[in-house]
Amino acid sequence: MEIIVSSFYKYIPINNKIENLRKKYLKFCRSIEIKGKILIAKEGINGSVSGTKEQINKFKKYLLKNKLFKDLTFRENIANDYAFKKMLVKTRKEIVTSGLKADLKNKGEHISPKKLKEMLDKNDDILLLDARNDYESKIGKFKNAITPNIHEFRQFKILLKDLKKYKDKKIVMYCTGGVRCEKSSALLKENGFKNVFQLEGGIINYINQFPDSYFEGRCFVFDNRISIHSGTKNHDISMCDYCHVPSSRYINCENEKCDKFFICCRECDKIMRHSCSKQCKVRTLKRNN
Ligand SMILES: [Zn+2]
Ligand SMILES: [Zn+2]
Repeated sequence: MEIIVSSFYKYIPINNKIENLRKKYLKFCRSIEIKGKILIAKEGINGSVSGTKEQINKFKKYLLKNKLFKDLTFRENIANDYAFKKMLVKTRKEIVTSGLKADLKNKGEHISPKKLKEMLDKNDDILLLDARNDYESKIGKFKNAITPNIHEFRQFKILLKDLKKYKDKKIVMYCTGGVRCEKSSALLKENGFKNVFQLEGGIINYINQFPDSYFEGRCFVFDNRISIHSGTKNHDISMCDYCHVPSSRYINCENEKCDKFFICCRECDKIMRHSCSKQCKVRTLKRNN
């Protein structure tokens, strides 16, 4: 079965009750049996849904009927199965939890994947800044990009101090689908960074147009697939935490109390019974017996 995973976002003030919108969209999504996750806030919408081509077309048609979202664009890729277990539509304070007070009016100018590719081909003097978390950039990133050491997007603001030395550089920021760069690029500009750009549609938009080109490894995604390939070549830039063979295979430690998210190749997974350590393996064995 070929399933399409379609993601989208838009910052737009929503004045009507977001709770009503939530109910309406949940009802519709359930009626056409797609699976995914949509977040709605007073500041906009952000979501990712999976379904057959027919289901996704119905969904897009429905969403685009709303005047607020009529110019919404979608980033799509293929999966073997529904990429989510169920359909969730939630209301939130922000469409991506950032805690950033930045004004979107100050956001960095968008540049297209084509433009970025040209800049990289010409070897332009730019600084690529990965706006994602460390566990995401660990398995895939743009060549020579700066990959901050943060665990969650909420921590982005602490990077300002470290990034100060690049204040006069031309900076191109990127994330998975673009949404995280909107506020974080504004934050940089509000703090004196003059030349800040953001990659339109993020990594997904880029690798769809330019596979095997400057993006190395796999692209982390927040659904059941965990990561997607970035081209035709299979290349892991990370390795198994145990045996150090090339691998991008993330699992959660089977010990519920630990739940560590780590990279583990298939072989080690079997030997260690989905556990991150000997201690966790013992606990898991006890529990299962
Ligand atoms: Zn291994
Ligand atoms: Zn563990």
